[in-house]
Amino acid sequence: MQKSKVYLLLGSDTGDKKKHIDDAADLVKNEIGEIITESSMYVSEAWGFDSDTVFFNKVIVVETDLNAFEILDITQKIEVRLGRTHKTIGKYQSRTIDIDILFYDDTIIETPRLTVPHPQIQNRRFTLLPLAEIASDFVHPVLHKSILLMLKECNDNSNVELAVC
Ligand code: ATP
Ligand code: CA
Ligand code: CA
Repeated sequence: MQKSKVYLLLGSDTGDKKKHIDDAADLVKNEIGEIITESSMYVSEAWGFDSDTVFFNKVIVVETDLNAFEILDITQKIEVRLGRTHKTIGKYQSRTIDIDILFYDDTIIETPRLTVPHPQIQNRRFTLLPLAEIASDFVHPVLHKSILLMLKECNDNSNVELAVC
């Protein structure tokens, strides 16, 4: 059977952020599948809440035999293993690691537990910039817009830069 491609956003804003992202990528590789593409590391302002620290973010594309729900189970276990203690309920907070499923091929999923494509992609510069680096022509299966077009149209003015690391 042909493998699927899952696009994951890795984010961290506490402790050794780069290490948390590298550790998460290693665990994804062991438990979900081969990482076939990865963006550079980006530094961004906290989005949706006030914070003194910045976020590190990276997008990876993983080839996998697993379905999106199996991937969510595993990524949530990886988050806990790397020290994440709470979910976002109503307000955003700092976290050692956050792994969001951005896309799973062209699949559309709308359930209480999982929404794919991730509903905020088009609103977040810290997601669109790394995505544009590695998949600028990928077309959002619900909005029918390329990553590049979504980036051009995005109203988010928060600062996102390449990390020096
Ligand atoms: P946001 O989703 O706005 O970036 P967050 O990442 O801080 O917020 P979490 O606490 O990590 O939110 O996740 C809350 C819940 O979102 C998870 O328990 C999970 O069931 C659900 N969820 C729905 N769609 C997705 C998705 N595409 N990727 C990851 N989690 C998802
Ligand atoms: Ca998130
Ligand atoms: Ca999340």
